[in-house]
Amino acid sequence: MTTTHVRTRMAPSPTGDMHVGSMGIVLKNYAYAKKHGGSFVLRIEDTDKVREVEGAVDRIQDIITAYGLDWDEGPGKGGDFGPYIQSQRIDLYTQMARELVENDKAYYCTCSKERLEEVRDSMRAQKLPPKYDQRCRNQQELVLGEMANGAQAVIRLKTPKDQDVSFTDLIRGTITFNSNTVDDQVLLKSDGYPTYHLAVVVDDHGMDITHIMRGEEWISSTPKHVLLYQAFGWEMPVFAHIPVYLNPDGKGKMSKRKGTVSAQSFLDRGYLPEALLNFFMILGWAHPDEKEILSLEEYIQYFDPKDVSPKSVVFDMKKLDWMNGMYIRQLPLEELESKLQPFIPEEFPKEKVALVLPLIFERLEKLSDFAELTSFFQGEITIPTDLLLKKSSVDQVNEQITACIEALTNIEWSIETIETAIRNLQEKNDWKKKQFFMMVRVAATGKKATPPLFETMQLIGKEAILQRLNQSLQQV
Ligand code: GLU
Repeated sequence: MTTTHVRTRMAPSPTGDMHVGSMGIVLKNYAYAKKHGGSFVLRIEDTDKVREVEGAVDRIQDIITAYGLDWDEGPGKGGDFGPYIQSQRIDLYTQMARELVENDKAYYCTCSKERLEEVRDSMRAQKLPPKYDQRCRNQQELVLGEMANGAQAVIRLKTPKDQDVSFTDLIRGTITFNSNTVDDQVLLKSDGYPTYHLAVVVDDHGMDITHIMRGEEWISSTPKHVLLYQAFGWEMPVFAHIPVYLNPDGKGKMSKRKGTVSAQSFLDRGYLPEALLNFFMILGWAHPDEKEILSLEEYIQYFDPKDVSPKSVVFDMKKLDWMNGMYIRQLPLEELESKLQPFIPEEFPKEKVALVLPLIFERLEKLSDFAELTSFFQGEITIPTDLLLKKSSVDQVNEQITACIEALTNIEWSIETIETAIRNLQEKNDWKKKQFFMMVRVAATGKKATPPLFETMQLIGKEAILQRLNQSLQQV
């Protein structure tokens, strides 16, 4: 490494939408680079053209930006180490793989798919881990002859025999493995494309990356990478393999099978990017004072990958909802109103949004809750009869609702007049408060929990309230 300043990277493959767990890793790489005044690099690893999804490269960039994060070098930004898209760097990988062959660190292999399959089958039959049997490793002349006659060849790493090799993982400490457990991995495929292993090592080295923070699912690939750094004679970066998130029910790695997991889907469901980032911060890492609500600046100040817990953490949706609610309540009402726009049902009267907001504000956990929390403010509603009769008898409903209709019909419609009319009825007749107010609430809104009753009734409007009271009468 020629630089001393911290350079981190995120290296997504454009095989689909970014997983929410990957966004947690983007955050760590971003924050650690910022903490040290370094650079955060975005590199697109698109050498597997079969798995590539159209539009994914753009979507990766868009979603990082939508979360309020940014990269210093990469697509759309440039930088001294570009291009930052691997498919534009193919010549480099070919050159590097050939260099390894010249230095006797790698070799050509012409074994056919069928032969490799047979080798693997026979290994499995002997209960050995399936590995290449190294047929080509010690007969390069023969192999070159086959190539001259048109045989297709890959380049494989000449994995050293029986060596203990170590690397440092900031989260797990020193990890040592024996080189015999590592296959003579393919570096360059016969179509001239590099494998992930070759490309990632060539680029992390070539882009001067100092810290590799990536998901723990890559930990089993790291020995291969370490052997490659050694074959090239390059200094190794520091690794930190970040534990995966577990499904909210605590079972298994957070995956599509148990709900949507793309980073985009959380924004679509009305979570605020700032709340999501804050949530990622405290999953598997704690602020020195155990503070849970923290700004990006505070996180940048304190975050260190060595403090990340090696244990997988549950993606606790309840906590996320709570945290999102906290962030929503910190927003000035005007800003909240503008963020709510995509979540307001088409039929909801626009002029009522600002009036309704103060009433439901406390109960909004996600922007998407708006529709449910305001469903009773307009239009026709269903009034569940069982709720109406939960604390009241049919006679009580008949008597009391009739009295309400009478008392409300001729008043001027304001919060105070509604309140006075309703409270007077209750007091005058000595009706039980709990029973009576619950019944009025259900009759007026169809729900047993709502924002303050009189404000709500005022907003719903006189005509609609009288209609709903009549509807309730007919239902019992
Ligand atoms: N391209 C790999 C991915 O899609 C990158 C893994 C790594 O960070 O080394 O996640």
